[in-house]
Amino acid sequence: MSLHGDYDAQNIFAQIIRGEAPCYKLYEDEDVLAFLDVFPQSYGHTLVIPKRSAARNILDIDVDSLAKVMAVVQRLTRVLVEELEPAGVQVAQFNGAPAGQTVFHIHMHIVPRFAGEQLGIHASVKAEPAELAQLQARLLRRMGH
Ligand code: AMP
Repeated sequence: MSLHGDYDAQNIFAQIIRGEAPCYKLYEDEDVLAFLDVFPQSYGHTLVIPKRSAARNILDIDVDSLAKVMAVVQRLTRVLVEELEPAGVQVAQFNGAPAGQTVFHIHMHIVPRFAGEQLGIHASVKAEPAELAQLQARLLRRMGH
């Protein structure tokens, strides 16, 4: 029943929003937070989440929060494409464990795709902290930080 149920305020993304767990932050405003996936399926794999909405999935989230998330998804997709120059880019979102969801706070995946490179296995191989920090710095520079 992972598609339905109560929101767990101890999920890892809720902890990241509260500052109780770290993240490689790329963007934050009052409503939206974006950070690097630490088990990236490709170089530049980014997650975008609502901060104020205790929504597990797309069934739960209010449309205003969803629209704010999507505006940041588009903005960061442009940044990732400009900086990393992938051949393609996937934007994805999973609802319920059978659909591939492992963290039950709604999030959008932005996954740059490079020619000839297979997609890494979902949520499985942790990236090197130094590599993530370097990528974070590179993307922040591209955004003018
Ligand atoms: P999903 O399977 O769609 O729920 O996606 C959850 C994503 O969160 C996966 O791609 C994981 O690699 C990623 N993830 C899990 N824990 C963390 C974390 N602490 N920081 C960043 N990304 C994470």
